[in-house]
Amino acid sequence: MVPVPGGRRNPYVRASCGHWTTYEYCVSHGAVPYEHIRTPREGGRLKRDGTPDPRWKELRADIPCARCRPKTPAEVEEERERRREYARRRRLRDRLEFACPLCGKRLRARRDSGAFESFAAGSLGEEEARRRLLGAHLRHEHTDYDRIRRDEYERLRRLGYGWEEAHAIAKEKAAEKVRGCLGELWKKVEEKVASAGTAEGS
Ligand SMILES: [Zn+2]
Ligand SMILES: [Zn+2]
Repeated sequence: MVPVPGGRRNPYVRASCGHWTTYEYCVSHGAVPYEHIRTPREGGRLKRDGTPDPRWKELRADIPCARCRPKTPAEVEEERERRREYARRRRLRDRLEFACPLCGKRLRARRDSGAFESFAAGSLGEEEARRRLLGAHLRHEHTDYDRIRRDEYERLRRLGYGWEEAHAIAKEKAAEKVRGCLGELWKKVEEKVASAGTAEGS
């Protein structure tokens, strides 16, 4: 953080485009902010003697804000690259999307999906990534996993466990309790997939 001269509490600076920016931004882009006393037309006030009231002052800088500043070629390229990467990830997400064989719901990798990240990075195959997505879906939407985990977490917290420990134990316990049920679900999935396969083949 760049120290603000005069120790002003509010380091915001009005840029030449009229938007607000920070003191730090101005200094790092070569513009030194200066104090400006607002005229009545700019929302300021006059003192009784007709001179501008210095209480209505603000910092100003002769530089447009980050959004209005013309982009350098490097920044343009960087933005283009970011958009390309975004599009690439969207395509991969589309490609991975599939329907749950049991309930037909479309499964799409979520933003925080570890399976998707590994798939996008190339360290996880497509089928394995789908299998992990389906596994998470089965657990959360076809079993009581979430309810068991929540109840167990609350019970442990009431007993005085710290949240981290309660979270870890509850997770383990819920996984343990739905293990049999999940096994059954996977069997059903395999049956469905197999019968769909023979139906297609015949
Ligand atoms: Zn601006
Ligand atoms: Zn389902």
